[in-house]
Amino acid sequence: FNVPVPVNEPVRAYAPGTAEHKNLIDKYKELYNQPQIDIPMYIGGKEVRTEKKRPMAPPHDHQKLLGHYNQGSAVHVEQAIEAAMNAREAWANTPWEQRAAVFLRAAELLAGPFRDKMNAATMLAQSKNVFQAEIDAACEMIDFFRFNVQYLTTIYKDQPISSPGVWNRVEYRPLEGFIYAITPFNFTSICANLCASPALMGNVVVWKPAASQVYSAAVIMELFQAAGLPDGVINMVTIDGPTAGEVIFKHRDFGGIHFTGSTEVFRGLWKNIGENLDKYKSYPRIVGETGGKDFVMVHRSAKAAEVATALSRGAFEYQGQKCSAASRAYIPSNIWADVKSILVSQVSSMKMGSPEDTSNFINAVIDKKAFTKISEYIDYAKAASDAEIIVGGNYDGSKGYFIEPTVIVTTNPKFKTMEEEIFGPVLTIHVYDEYKYEETLHIVDSTSEYALTGSIMATDRYAITQATDALRNAAGNFYINDKPTGAVVGQQPFGGARGSGTNDKAGAAMNLMRWVSVRTIKETF
Ligand code: GLU
Repeated sequence: FNVPVPVNEPVRAYAPGTAEHKNLIDKYKELYNQPQIDIPMYIGGKEVRTEKKRPMAPPHDHQKLLGHYNQGSAVHVEQAIEAAMNAREAWANTPWEQRAAVFLRAAELLAGPFRDKMNAATMLAQSKNVFQAEIDAACEMIDFFRFNVQYLTTIYKDQPISSPGVWNRVEYRPLEGFIYAITPFNFTSICANLCASPALMGNVVVWKPAASQVYSAAVIMELFQAAGLPDGVINMVTIDGPTAGEVIFKHRDFGGIHFTGSTEVFRGLWKNIGENLDKYKSYPRIVGETGGKDFVMVHRSAKAAEVATALSRGAFEYQGQKCSAASRAYIPSNIWADVKSILVSQVSSMKMGSPEDTSNFINAVIDKKAFTKISEYIDYAKAASDAEIIVGGNYDGSKGYFIEPTVIVTTNPKFKTMEEEIFGPVLTIHVYDEYKYEETLHIVDSTSEYALTGSIMATDRYAITQATDALRNAAGNFYINDKPTGAVVGQQPFGGARGSGTNDKAGAAMNLMRWVSVRTIKETF
């Protein structure tokens, strides 16, 4: 079980004027200007195209046609399952070192020759700024590949005791069926990992990327192929969810889902699986990371400047389109004036525009549907008598889906935007009486159905302890004096409970454990 000791991939700064900045922007321009591409499905290692072409455009430049992807139908899902099941036995019986080597090779290719393309594709098609692309599409993806190999060994090493004459051992087999990976648009690394972690453990995968992420999904498939992943181990189908579900959830070999996306969709899938349970050979594994309504709770002892920075970074990086984004904050009255003036100045100086200009902190939100939903929440706040917008509030979808980072302040701790997930650049703040700390902790815990991430900001040690205890079940990732985003693989295993998911911690052995089925062997001599 001697594997390379994983280290987190260093984050590149891409300072303007440097070669790394120039190379990345050149790659971005090359992708932007290349002839329209036609992204296939990948089934059994073969590129599959259909008559149904779906357009792809950058969210910040929605009249620009980048190319098309191919919309599949039920028959393609059947083919993908067949390809996966045909590849299954050989892959499951491939020595683990060889499986691990494929992903370690993918990590090195991504750290080197694939890096600019993966980052540029993510900037272009998902509208991420250079830093947000780098920490996701490069560093986090590399980290997942490297650290998962280490976690595999910690799992495999765990063996029962034996005695002279009796040898007990456990064999960590992959699941008997195929895994269905359903992935989101907001993290390219998560998309890769939802496929890669079951595959590393010897499973085969049918992958459905989100329509708005297909562009970088194709780069992930290129990377896997370049790293030597055998045909059929990961099959990518671009298809709508209900059509895919109709085939997959009725299939005898369905082995589990690895999901990141909305709470509503996840609940629907779970019910669908439950209704079809009698059809399956084994009980399927259901692993999902879903929504969040992540909090920043502030104590009267906190430092105003640190609070403002945690809020502006936590709420507005990647336009707030992170499950972990800070979207509700509770600020004590004694420091509110200071927090407000620093926050307003930070947020109003955030530049907005295309990721090609790397000085733009804010880019576009992902698509028209998101743009409409988010702007409706902003309009709701504008019209409400118990809320006001202190910065931002404007949006313009004419060229790209641009929404200003917006801060709402409300006197009502149960205001709609304090409770519902918006998944956009909108932060809502409730200012509380500085002496009502304990009451407010209770409100934080009981306000949303989610429990993904949250922060406590305080310098008073007792206040930190109180919050850590009172908010025990309110966040799967709890931060003390930091923003609630930016979990790093190997450092902060990521995931939440309640309405936020099954808490099977991405970037940890716990997740990989879900993709094994254990055989215990007792041999007597
Ligand atoms: N892992 C990311 C973070 O810590 C969030 C992932 C997500 O949005 O699904 O910010």
